[in-house]
Amino acid sequence: MPAARALALALSAALAAAATPASSAKAGSNTPALERFQAQQQVEQRVQDIGWRLVTGNSRFCDNVVPAIGLLLHDMASYREPAAVRNLLGLESDFAVLAAAEGSPAAKAGLAAGVEIAAIDNEVLSSWPSETHGDWRRTVRAHDLISARLATSGVVVLQRREGSRVKLAGEPACASRFEMGGGGKGALAEGMRVIVERDFPGLGYPEDELAAALAHELAHNLLRHRMWLEREGRGRRNIRLTEREADRLMPWLLANAGYQPSAASRFMARWGPDHSGGIFRKRSHDGWDERLEFIEAELVQIDKVRHADGSADWHSHFRRDIDPDQ
Ligand SMILES: [Zn+2]
Repeated sequence: MPAARALALALSAALAAAATPASSAKAGSNTPALERFQAQQQVEQRVQDIGWRLVTGNSRFCDNVVPAIGLLLHDMASYREPAAVRNLLGLESDFAVLAAAEGSPAAKAGLAAGVEIAAIDNEVLSSWPSETHGDWRRTVRAHDLISARLATSGVVVLQRREGSRVKLAGEPACASRFEMGGGGKGALAEGMRVIVERDFPGLGYPEDELAAALAHELAHNLLRHRMWLEREGRGRRNIRLTEREADRLMPWLLANAGYQPSAASRFMARWGPDHSGGIFRKRSHDGWDERLEFIEAELVQIDKVRHADGSADWHSHFRRDIDPDQ
């Protein structure tokens, strides 16, 4: 399933479920359904905030850099019950901001959650065809249009529903998006996206340890592991090599995003015993205690090369275990 479809379906399930009992409630009233939606939205916000720090903080070391504005939209047509969700949120149109990453151009321009968006560079979003419900395609199209306009001109103009326009200039970011999607407990990297499933245990961890988990997934994208595995095969040994590299790059990515690199080892010490250790350990992964040792060896390396501003140049100093170009 494409990630964007998983995202829309997951949101649809969560929000339509939340919206159903409130379809007759007054918009804006503090209903349990609204509280459930807001809780989900806070999770989205948290993932966007952390993701933004990771992709912008590491942009000078990434091979593939794109201009980005840190904006996540949602389209009422993607929900199972668009009218109920629209009513719940007090919206009048279909597109609104779901989250704007903290410190991003979108957030600085005041595009907070709930702000309704009518057009992107004169493309009127309501003119795009769509099914009446459960249709995620316009959401994808809107994000792709923003990315495309930023890539060609460096700027994009968004028009609010009431008519005012805001012109946003992209900031350099490593080319990966972060999305919530699916009802499982995993987090995964699919090349250009990091997808966090709704019951991922890391969502309950302290911020910098969740950032470590997201950095591990981002590392798979930045190190082009998917492409390499497709070429070399997904045997146990190859999976283990890519997992080890992703673990080892975690603390570097954290350092550049303004987190303590040691959050990577705290994350592994918290996550490992429950999820990859002991007799149930996955044979495609090192044991969590070994993974912790690999991370701690990187912390020593980072200390040696770290600049006064806290940055750590993994492009020059990170040792690869595999060569994606060969
Ligand atoms: Zn992994």
